[in-house]
Amino acid sequence: MMPEERKKILRNAHHLYKRIGGAVVWGLLEECGLGDGTYAGVFLDEYLKEMSYIISVMEELEKGESVFFTFFVHEPGCAWCTSIAGKIISIGDADWRNCLPPFAVGCRMSCRTLSVAAMQALSAGEKESRLMVAHDLVLPACSLLFQF
Ligand SMILES: [Zn+2]
Repeated sequence: MMPEERKKILRNAHHLYKRIGGAVVWGLLEECGLGDGTYAGVFLDEYLKEMSYIISVMEELEKGESVFFTFFVHEPGCAWCTSIAGKIISIGDADWRNCLPPFAVGCRMSCRTLSVAAMQALSAGEKESRLMVAHDLVLPACSLLFQF
């Protein structure tokens, strides 16, 4: 179990989570007139569950236990997120933290670490097509803001 203080440090290192925590999401839902239904509760639970998961992925990457991560989409993803599903980012890339999903509140993109062995098992062509330069993702264009 990760200490709360460590979770907070990682959350503050994430481009979205450092600005939009659970309380802000709840406020946005209320602002949209969704604050009084179970819908809001389900959405917030999912948001916090994904945040917890992404923070655990970040911890593995920060500790160097894994040095690659790959994107996957919780269906249905937007066209932009779907187009980068399967792409791989190396933490040798200085901008890797800017590529951590999700990219918006409601974004369906996620990621998982990829072991060195799994990377080595890829063909040269697959590596070339999947490995992505983090800078190319610095301005993500997820279009699922507040779509459920
Ligand atoms: Zn998206």
